[in-house]
Amino acid sequence: MPLYEYITTDSEKGCRICRQGFELRRPLDRPPLDLCPLCRNPVKKLLSKGVTSPKIAKPLSVTDAKKAGFTVLERRDQGTYEKL
Ligand SMILES: [Zn+2]
Repeated sequence: MPLYEYITTDSEKGCRICRQGFELRRPLDRPPLDLCPLCRNPVKKLLSKGVTSPKIAKPLSVTDAKKAGFTVLERRDQGTYEKL
């Protein structure tokens, strides 16, 4: 059974369990949980802990840095080798 993480969509209404998020195992053939089992307020499913946005953001910032001038410096080094 896969383990899902849920958290309340409205921290004003959620109970202490869904306000900080909770984990729940659910069979695949069951519809996704959309209400907290305790307080009956709406909850949303969180993405897996293994997927984090910084992994995506980091390569993008390196690309931006290259656009900002690093590529030019690398080409100057190659030019030096050509002169030798
Ligand atoms: Zn709740």
